[in-house]
Amino acid sequence: MSENLLSDREASAHESRCIRAPSTCTCAHVAWIWAERPVTAAHPNPGKWMLFPSTEDVDRWWTVVQRLLATGRLGDTAKVAPSRGNVRTHLICVYLPDSDDVKEVMRVLLLLRDELDLRMGLNYKTDEETINGHYAASSGRNIQHDSKEMVSMYTSPRLVQQQRGQKRKGVSSAQRKLGKAAKSE
Ligand SMILES: [Zn+2]
Repeated sequence: MSENLLSDREASAHESRCIRAPSTCTCAHVAWIWAERPVTAAHPNPGKWMLFPSTEDVDRWWTVVQRLLATGRLGDTAKVAPSRGNVRTHLICVYLPDSDDVKEVMRVLLLLRDELDLRMGLNYKTDEETINGHYAASSGRNIQHDSKEMVSMYTSPRLVQQQRGQKRKGVSSAQRKLGKAAKSE
């Protein structure tokens, strides 16, 4: 399958019986499972859409992300947090090379919404915000899944339930956050 084009930078740390599905990987030294294409493009201002699937959904969502990545419909990198004891929410990061390319960032938002049938609100963060934010204090197994973090470059509101037969929308209301007042540092 096309997923074979993708590499996992932590692959050597997975134990031999690990099947590398996020819901079942409990390998001690694996903070993330990665899916990466060979990098060719420049990354002037990298950032990521963040998805928070439940343990029930994470393997299916990750398979979809891998497929989209392998077929060139996302950026060139994504990662997912594997199983963490009793934690029931995972984090998938879908990276994009240029956060200032609003059209591209929104295209990927729409694609993810469509392919995963997402209704939850999504946040997009630049790597710069990540470095300055809560991520800096945590690493590896202590990552807090960002749920309390409000620092985002873009936010896409939750989709409201539409009348039957109506086409759902959402990306038109995705907004760029105003100012830097929300920054936490
Ligand atoms: Zn593993």
